[in-house]
Amino acid sequence: MSYDKNNVFAKILRGEIPCKKVFENKYVLSFHDINPKKKIHVLVIPKGEYTDLDHFHSEATEIEIVEFNKSVTRIVKMLKISSNENGYRMLSNIGHDGAQEVPHLHYHIFGGEKIGVLGG
Ligand code: AMP
Repeated sequence: MSYDKNNVFAKILRGEIPCKKVFENKYVLSFHDINPKKKIHVLVIPKGEYTDLDHFHSEATEIEIVEFNKSVTRIVKMLKISSNENGYRMLSNIGHDGAQEVPHLHYHIFGGEKIGVLGG
């Protein structure tokens, strides 16, 4: 899939749409989901133009991949839901069967309450 520069997260990255920022560095932006499914529901996106995890792993640099993944631990520590606290769930919806809506790679981080079994 080619990258759609008009997707909503691309607009957030360009500052055309506001977001409730949680964390940002050179490689990554994290913000609260506009329609939270749990008490805590934040998204993490790489700043580069990648549609999904497979696109990211095939084209991103090592530093982009490391920074994106390490940012999850930074963010859950900031939110006080790390594995040393009550924990969280992280997932990424990918492609049609994965029910991906926004075609810019993102991790969802859910926490702040007990997360049920998948689909629960
Ligand atoms: P996915 O199905 O994994 O592509 O999920 C996309 C997520 O983006 C959904 O949970 C939406 O609620 C969220 N979302 C869509 N637009 C915005 C926005 N402007 N700001 C924050 N989150 C958004």
